[in-house]
Amino acid sequence: MFVGVQGHDGVLDVLRRAQDGDRVAHAYLFAGPEGVGKRRVAVGFAQRLNCKDRSPGADGCGQCRTCRQIAQGNHPDFVSLAPDGQFIKIAQVREVTRSLRFPPIDATARVILIDEADRLHEAAANALLKTLEEPAPRNVFLLMTSQPNAVLVTIRSRCQMVRFTALSRELVAAWLIREKSLDPETADELAAMSEGSLSAADALTNPALGALREEWLRNLGELPRMSPSTLMTTAEAMSVDKETIPAVLDVFRVGLRDALLRAAGRPPEALTFRARAPIGGHLEPETLVKALALISDAELAHIRNVNPRMVAEHVLLGLRGLWGTP
Ligand SMILES: [Zn+2]
Repeated sequence: MFVGVQGHDGVLDVLRRAQDGDRVAHAYLFAGPEGVGKRRVAVGFAQRLNCKDRSPGADGCGQCRTCRQIAQGNHPDFVSLAPDGQFIKIAQVREVTRSLRFPPIDATARVILIDEADRLHEAAANALLKTLEEPAPRNVFLLMTSQPNAVLVTIRSRCQMVRFTALSRELVAAWLIREKSLDPETADELAAMSEGSLSAADALTNPALGALREEWLRNLGELPRMSPSTLMTTAEAMSVDKETIPAVLDVFRVGLRDALLRAAGRPPEALTFRARAPIGGHLEPETLVKALALISDAELAHIRNVNPRMVAEHVLLGLRGLWGTP
C-alpha cells in the first residue's frame, strides 16, 4: 500500500516490478510537478523495500514497526536531505555520505531521500557524485525534483528517471470531496485551479482564500458597471494588503481565461468554472487576450515592487478601458 498516493499507477508499476524482479536501481530521480505525491511514493517504496511483514509481490504493510518508523521519518536507515535555506549544502551531503560507509542498521535497503535535488549546489553535488558513482550495496537514492532540467547533468545521468505527471481534475476533485468534505461544484473548481497538484488543491481550501476568491470574482464581473468612484474604492481595497495582490490577480486570470475559452467556443469541460460564468460572454477574444496580458504585466510590476495602489489602479482601469462602458 502506498499510503495517501493518488494515481501514478504507471510509476508504482515500474517500482514494484523493479523490486520484484530484483532490479532496483541505486538511484532514481522522481521528476514531476510540485504537490502530486512524489514524496509519498518515495515513502511507500521505502516501506515496500523494507517491510518486515510483507508477502511476495505485495506492498509494505504500513503497520509493522519498520513501516511505521519510515512513515514517521525516524527509521535509522531512512535518511532525508532537504535544502537548508536556499541550497542543500556540502556539509549536509558529507554528513549523509559519511554515514553510508557503514552497512544499514536494520534495513534491507537503506533509502536516502533528497528533496529538491535541483538545489544541490555544485560543490554539494560533487560530494554526492562519488557516492552515486560507486554505490555501496543496499543503498537506494531517491531524488525529488519539480525541475529536472535544473538538476546538474552529472547527477541526472546517474539516476534512473521516473516521471510523475499532474493528477487529473477528476481525481483531485474526488480527493477534495472525500478528504475535505467539499461539495462537488466547489471541489471541481478547486481541482481545476490546482493544476493537478494535491498540495495546491489543499491550500486552495483555505476559507480566507475562498472568501477572497469569491469577492474578486464578483468584482471582476461587476467591473463594467462600476462608477468611477466605486472603481477607485475597489482599487484601494485591492491594494490594502500587498500580500493578497498575487491571489487577486490569479482569480482575475482564471476568470478571464474561462471567458476566453468560452469566446473561442471551447466546450464547458475545458472551463474552470463549469457551472457559472463570472464574466459575461459578450467580450471578443482579442479583448480578452489583451486583458490577460494586462494581468501578466501587473504580476511583473508587483514582483518588481511597484506601489500596490498603482498596480491595482492600473489593472482595474485597464480592464475597464478594454471592456468599454456598457
Ligand atoms: Zn510493514
